[in-house]
Amino acid sequence: MEQTHTRTGFTVHRIRQLSDSAYVLRFDRNGLAFAPGQYLSVGPAGDINMREYSVYSSPGDDYLEILVKEVEGGYVSKRLRALAPGDAVAVDGPFGFFTVDEDWRDHRFVFIATGTGISPFHDFVRSYPEIDYQVLHGIRDLSERYEHETFDPQRYVSCISRSHDGDYHGRVTDYLREHPVDTEARYYLCGNCDMIYEAFDVLQDAGVPHNQLFAEVYF
Ligand SMILES: Cc1cc2nc3c(=O)[nH]c(=O)nc-3n(C[C@H](O)[C@H](O)[C@H](O)COP(=O)(O)OP(=O)(O)OC[C@H]3O[C@@H](n4cnc5c(N)ncnc54)[C@H](O)[C@@H]3O)c2cc1C
Repeated sequence: MEQTHTRTGFTVHRIRQLSDSAYVLRFDRNGLAFAPGQYLSVGPAGDINMREYSVYSSPGDDYLEILVKEVEGGYVSKRLRALAPGDAVAVDGPFGFFTVDEDWRDHRFVFIATGTGISPFHDFVRSYPEIDYQVLHGIRDLSERYEHETFDPQRYVSCISRSHDGDYHGRVTDYLREHPVDTEARYYLCGNCDMIYEAFDVLQDAGVPHNQLFAEVYF
């Protein structure tokens, strides 16, 4: 992995709006090496404010993408949305250890996300198409499924507690409580900390050893 330092010569290619508040920002790769599951620190060039974003694109792509939700009252998520093709972003990284070791790829994986926490799983599945996985995605409505076509429909479960139009009515933690837990699988959890703490408890109570549990907390 190359050494990390802030670099500002990353030109924005385009922004793909996925819902009212979420978008994919695509910018130059500039040869940056990363492993699926790692994150970057990104901000508008010339602004000292940067935030962490999981890489949404795959190491096989010649560009970088991040999936961002514009947070109400948020500073960076709003300013990144206002960028136009040709503008520059500052990038630092890659960082993090939320990755899949090569020796584990023949195990079963359960990827559990809330909202944009789906981003690293998008990267995993595009980078390791052979892996055996299931995705549990906790979202507020169908607009938050964010390019779910990337996943095999048999392996992707949207969990929506406010309406009945998802694959499962309830939160991801309810889904885990109501279905058999595979104690041999590797569990990767990403998104808000309330879901992650609760899911850890459910999985540990069901007998999943702690060394099969991995988490990336967004907020
Ligand atoms: C390792 C890591 C990876 C991350 N990856 C992603 C990613 O891939 N995509 C992404 O959209 N965000 C990601 N985040 C969150 C991101 O870094 C920012 O916190 C987020 O974009 C808000 O920044 P802001 O400057 O707009 O808001 P700020 O001005 O910093 O205000 C943030 C406020 O919004 C809350 N907040 C942060 N994120 C959310 C959210 N998704 N929904 C509701 N409230 C939120 C914070 O708790 C805080 O109260 C990640 C965070 C970490 C630590």
